[in-house]
Amino acid sequence: MTYVICQPCITVKDKSCVDVCPVDCIYKVPGEELPSLQTFVDIDLERCIGCALCERWCPWDAIDMVPSVEIATHVANKGGPAEYLEKNGERLVAVAQGLADLAAEQQAPKKPAAT
Ligand code: SF4
Ligand code: SF4
Repeated sequence: MTYVICQPCITVKDKSCVDVCPVDCIYKVPGEELPSLQTFVDIDLERCIGCALCERWCPWDAIDMVPSVEIATHVANKGGPAEYLEKNGERLVAVAQGLADLAAEQQAPKKPAAT
């Protein structure tokens, strides 16, 4: 599972992560005032397959892989610039929390089958 530390994306034009993602789940977030000026990228967590190619190719170390069960906390803390989070934070964290819950469920020890 991944998330983007957004600051470097605001200041650089490189979009290597968008190009290498095999499932096209990294998207450019359009600028508020000038939509043609994208300001940073975000990741559609529901489609991410966790391949880590984006993390490997980002020249600015802006992407970190984090354990799936912790993803909601990371999204809440670093999911984008403050004004973006203000408008989208609830939705982004809800998606991340759903995935974290699923990961926790999958990691929980399985009950022995009833005989
Ligand atoms: S995450 Fe890295 S490669 Fe992707 S846009 Fe931001 S700085 Fe560029
Ligand atoms: S980990 Fe892989 S699938 Fe997920 S956003 Fe990065 S490149 Fe795309």
